[in-house]
Amino acid sequence: MNLAVASGKGGTGKTTVAASLAKVWGSAVVAVDLDVEEPNLHLFLRPDITGSERALMQIPQLDESLCDACGACAELCQFKAVSLLGKVLLIFPDMCHGCGGCLAVCPRQALSASSRELGEVSWGHSRQTGFLMGRLRVGEAMSPPLMRAVHARLRIMLGQAPADVIVDAPPGVSCPALNAVMGSDAILLVTEPTPFGLYDLRLAHQAFAPLGKPLGVVINRAGLGDSGVQEFCRRQNLPVLCEIPFERQAAEAYSRGQVLAEASPAWRELFLELATKARALAQPAGAGLEAAHA
Ligand code: SF4
Ligand code: SF4
Repeated sequence: MNLAVASGKGGTGKTTVAASLAKVWGSAVVAVDLDVEEPNLHLFLRPDITGSERALMQIPQLDESLCDACGACAELCQFKAVSLLGKVLLIFPDMCHGCGGCLAVCPRQALSASSRELGEVSWGHSRQTGFLMGRLRVGEAMSPPLMRAVHARLRIMLGQAPADVIVDAPPGVSCPALNAVMGSDAILLVTEPTPFGLYDLRLAHQAFAPLGKPLGVVINRAGLGDSGVQEFCRRQNLPVLCEIPFERQAAEAYSRGQVLAEASPAWRELFLELATKARALAQPAGAGLEAAHA
């Protein structure tokens, strides 16, 4: 199964939950950091990195001697990454999304494929837990193509050793966040019981509910604020799978870069219970029965 851990905003404890779940999962699992703009899962899991590769994206390169400024490529490109200025064709590599369309429509083969570095994909393991992450190059604005490279590596890893997947998704509800949860069987929304937490949970619910995947809520720092999040979950029929108490020990573990599930037997127990509920959430109703009767 593929479980995405997401949140409507940063700082809610999404990575704490993803790292802890990965550590107590109880069967083969790969923890994937898809928050490629600001990956930090490795700070908690402290993996041994066994492999890495540069992720590249195909961009067009112009041979001016072949171009007759017909404008077909500029007309096609929705991102204005190739633009015709009078009779001069300009290419803006940082705006290119790598679709390859301009190369395909050029009648004079004046465009050829070059590449731009998006970032790095690294993998390894943290004891029994598989680990995979993407890190966007500084200055690079587009994370979805790098996320595709992470997914490609994940397919290779799962082909070599089948495992469940826990994804630490980017915060928010923009394109990268949706991209990260798209392949999941269920989504955990991590929030906190404050007006800000509620506001961003609403946004996350609006963005992710149309995907039709089972959603569950984890309330971090429970006891800190008000009951708004609980009431919203009740109204929306969103199951609250876990409440992580607002305790000094959790903050201390976080500041040491320690996985919360490994901070004490009580924390471990809490995340074991969450793991059981998350598995049940991802299991379509009746799937167990069907398997049993097969
Ligand atoms: S590859 Fe696609 S996005 Fe990039 S310049 Fe060509 S048409 Fe535009
Ligand atoms: S389609 Fe080819 S020939 Fe036409 S403007 Fe673009 S690069 Fe030049």
